[in-house]
Amino acid sequence: MPKAGLSAVISKSAVRNQGSTMKLGVINLGCPKNTVDTEVMMSYLRDFTITKNPADADYILINTCGFLKASRIESTRAISDMLKNRKCKVIVAGCFVTKELKKLRKKFKEVYAWVGVNDISNIRKAVEQGGVYTDSAPCVYKGMEHVTLLNPYSAYVKISDGCNHRCSFCVIPSIKGKYRSRKIGDIAGEIKGLVDSGVSEINLISQDLTCYGRDNYGRPMIGRLMKEILKRTKKFFWLRLLYLYPDLAAIKGIVEVMAKDTRVCRYLDIPFQHISDGVLKSMKRGYTGKHIEKVIEHIKSSLPGVHIRTSFIAGYPRETEDDLKKLEDFIGFGYVEKAGIFAYSDEPGTHAYTLKPKINPGVIKQRQKRLALASAKVCYYNNSMETGKTKKVLVIGKRAKGIYMGRTEENAPDIDNYIIFNSGKLFKPGDFARVKVTGYEKFDLLGDAI
Ligand code: SF4
Repeated sequence: MPKAGLSAVISKSAVRNQGSTMKLGVINLGCPKNTVDTEVMMSYLRDFTITKNPADADYILINTCGFLKASRIESTRAISDMLKNRKCKVIVAGCFVTKELKKLRKKFKEVYAWVGVNDISNIRKAVEQGGVYTDSAPCVYKGMEHVTLLNPYSAYVKISDGCNHRCSFCVIPSIKGKYRSRKIGDIAGEIKGLVDSGVSEINLISQDLTCYGRDNYGRPMIGRLMKEILKRTKKFFWLRLLYLYPDLAAIKGIVEVMAKDTRVCRYLDIPFQHISDGVLKSMKRGYTGKHIEKVIEHIKSSLPGVHIRTSFIAGYPRETEDDLKKLEDFIGFGYVEKAGIFAYSDEPGTHAYTLKPKINPGVIKQRQKRLALASAKVCYYNNSMETGKTKKVLVIGKRAKGIYMGRTEENAPDIDNYIIFNSGKLFKPGDFARVKVTGYEKFDLLGDAI
């Protein structure tokens, strides 16, 4: 999903390794998987000086997203805007390039180099020689190439790339190819290096964490991977798991490891997409609403206090009022603590694109609003129950003198809520604090450090 405006993204490029006289501006669009690709490309170019000011840059690297119409619009706008700066060379990389190279080349003739999502290891060549780099076979980085971070205290680590599911609405498998897992030793070694160099939070990401290991080890290995990461890394850090398919067997393995080690955040992100059996079947998700309830029941009974984040699609073709009501009731009941509601995006090339009748775009927006309201009410209620509790908090910045922002383990970066707290003690981003919750405002908690 697109996550920020252009200037915000550029200003996030606070990185290590600055040195060359050549200046590089970086625009990172899309999901955390793209963030890692951007960081790997920046690692290959770590002798460049990173600039926050595009007018100052010799090169601008735009890592695009082509997953949904909204992200393609955002990526197109970024390319257009950056090409207005005639002084610098613009390099466009990412999913959008892999998906629509021909169209893009026709529209943006002044682009200096094009780099597909599987060609990020060619970024150096692209910068030095320009041209088109889109023919590499699907791959995934090994680990040593990931040394430059957009956020110095909280890192995303990709454990695989690609996807073997065939959800009816999704173009990702056609862009990224089949699921391919990295090796346990490579991932655990990369994470040890990141934590030893001062990273406080590691967020494991993949299109589906529960599928990890099935390709190269022949069985789900996510539990084994977690154990190896925790064994190798002695320093205190948070390990967070993002994006799980509701595969109960693999989730049981994950929960078992989580229950034994407090370094694993009590938080799981499991996109369910819908709750109605008819819609789930049409989406080709391979499970039912009952199965979702079983998964939630297992997690909650094994890990009291855990937060589950999920995402739902509103306005899928043929979604009836009854389907929607079921979903609204499910969200309102508070089975999950956090739900992101996305409006259905009709993507050419998917099975869902062929389904009729479609829901009118205006009605999709209304449905999205209705579900988002149900989710917001659950969030207010959950926040009201936190007052008086003491929480471990990862400090992420300062708001004003003596006022800090942080996140509890139940809140992931870039998507969840903050805790705003007072403290006479000095903290820097990446420190952990203990904070007593004293209240809440809208979505965020309020507190005092103790
Ligand atoms: S699990 Fe489904 S929605 Fe997620 S990337 Fe794979 S095909 Fe797309």
